[in-house]
Amino acid sequence: MDKKFFVTTPIYYVNGEPHVGTAYTTIAADVISRYKRLKGYDVYFLTGTDEHGQKIEETANKAGLTPKELVDKTSPKFKKMWERLNISNTDFIRTTEDRHIKAVNKILKKVNENGDIYKGNYEGLYCVSCENFVPKNQVDKDELCPDCGKKLRTVKEESYFFKMSKYQDQLLKHIEENPNFIQPEYRKNEIVSFIKQGLTDLSISRNTFKWGIPLEIDNGHVIYVWFDALTNYITAVGYENDSEKFDKYWNNSEVLHIIGKDIIRFHAIIWPTMLMSAGIKVPDKIVAHGWWTSEGEKMSKSKNNVVDPEKEIEKYGLDAFRYFMLREVNFGVDGDYSQQGIVNRINYDLANDLGNLLNRTIGMVKKYFNGIVIEGEGEDNFDKEIKALYSQTLVEVDDYMNKLQFSKALESIWKFISRMNKYIDETAPWTLAKDESKKSRLAVVMYNLVESLYKISVLISPFMPETSIKMLNQLGLNEKIDNLSIEKIENWGNIPYNIKLAEPNPIFPRIELEVKEEEIIEEEQNFISIDDFSKVKIVVAEILQADNVDGADKLLKFRVSIGKKERTVLSGIAKYYKPQELIGKKVLFVSNLKPVKLRGILSEGMLLTTVTKKSIRLIEIDKSIENGTEVK
Ligand SMILES: [Zn+2]
Repeated sequence: MDKKFFVTTPIYYVNGEPHVGTAYTTIAADVISRYKRLKGYDVYFLTGTDEHGQKIEETANKAGLTPKELVDKTSPKFKKMWERLNISNTDFIRTTEDRHIKAVNKILKKVNENGDIYKGNYEGLYCVSCENFVPKNQVDKDELCPDCGKKLRTVKEESYFFKMSKYQDQLLKHIEENPNFIQPEYRKNEIVSFIKQGLTDLSISRNTFKWGIPLEIDNGHVIYVWFDALTNYITAVGYENDSEKFDKYWNNSEVLHIIGKDIIRFHAIIWPTMLMSAGIKVPDKIVAHGWWTSEGEKMSKSKNNVVDPEKEIEKYGLDAFRYFMLREVNFGVDGDYSQQGIVNRINYDLANDLGNLLNRTIGMVKKYFNGIVIEGEGEDNFDKEIKALYSQTLVEVDDYMNKLQFSKALESIWKFISRMNKYIDETAPWTLAKDESKKSRLAVVMYNLVESLYKISVLISPFMPETSIKMLNQLGLNEKIDNLSIEKIENWGNIPYNIKLAEPNPIFPRIELEVKEEEIIEEEQNFISIDDFSKVKIVVAEILQADNVDGADKLLKFRVSIGKKERTVLSGIAKYYKPQELIGKKVLFVSNLKPVKLRGILSEGMLLTTVTKKSIRLIEIDKSIENGTEVK
């Protein structure tokens, strides 16, 4: 394979555990990896954990652990979560590994040899939570971190500096000449204006704590955690000692970093300038995605609204979760995770559109041809239309995937799915089946449906690998994910004649939104039981007589028949009806209401009405229903 693709997620800081944000980045990287494999690329997909730094040391101290014990405990949680999410990574790197420590020393040595490191004193503000040096001009007198809002610390210590400012013009020129280097566009603009304000040199060592990679030239210092962490991207592809691998996956590969928007400056400024100094090619593309809210609100532990991927997968299934995350928002902007949102996606897109197409097709092939895909003849305009749309879909999907516009790519695939559902209605197989002379045409229609489902299975496989295989199995094809390819599905006619389809089985059952426990409790006070309701006896009554009541301009007096019995009842509807127009109408009547005396008249029940601000109306019942019929 000559085409190479190297994609990375950030390495996740093991101070916290995997959550929906890190899951999102990793799923996105997985989807593009799987797509590139479908396109015939040799893919190297890297993820891992970032394990050094002051915050880790402090967290470990608080927990009564050594930093090493803490990172050994947390890092496997990420590995396990990625397995659970069906992530197809090639490598999982930990920055405490020997290969990485060697690579960091090597790049630092290169940068130093190039005259880009000097010793000085750092005096300024530092955010331990972000592990970031924050320039004074970015904070007000409260000295809070502009990124995370936490209190900044004043740091005053001896430090080694990297001459980052030296690369300011080179970096700006690179961004200008490579318009896709930083995506989305508005993030690029932010970075450009930040650089134009002037880059300062970067403090790359600390000497007031121990948990980091010691500086070879001065053992009293540990390397700044971001300088350490960013290097992981070249460690994994053999920078330190495997030049063949490094050539293959770094120098001669398309290199893509996928990150969250909060860490774009580290990736789009520090990282490329480090590489420029060390004489290493910079990555091709850095893409920053947005953040997720939960039911419209910022996620936080105190609000107890943090989305837990594990729970969501349990509730909705892995593929539905993967689909929702990439379909719901355009990659780059912020998105909202809501239960209604994911349920709608499952019911409409997955159960209705995709699930129905599969079920209807298999059902019909079974009914008309005993489950066997038969050869037919001819091609009509509907056939031509779906084939043309399919070719267009392939082009669109490829374009969107290359831009990481996952949502748009899925939209394209779903346009084709809807078109195929419409094709069933247009071709009306149930009508063709009644006419023996149309059997060949019916076979063509069935073939096209099965063919489209095969192609759809392949196209959705990067997003929903398990579903893809399930669909292929139902189509009677024993395919493996690794054997699928876009090249194979370019032309119409992949399905061999006379294959036998398997039993249809719903891939995405429709689901009802699970009502939260608090909501049930909240409404419960207003609930009545079925027993309570059944105490009310409602019957059909015929109005035999209707009169005004002297001295009461709101009331009408009625005589009604409820079968064998008659009753007298008063109702406050005089403003809305003339008595004579009501005679003969059948209405609803509560027959077991305790009688009350109004204006000296005993009212023995109640007529049911609808009540709005403008009017009160009797609920009329069809005249064919017998008097006294009970309503339940
Ligand atoms: Zn911060």
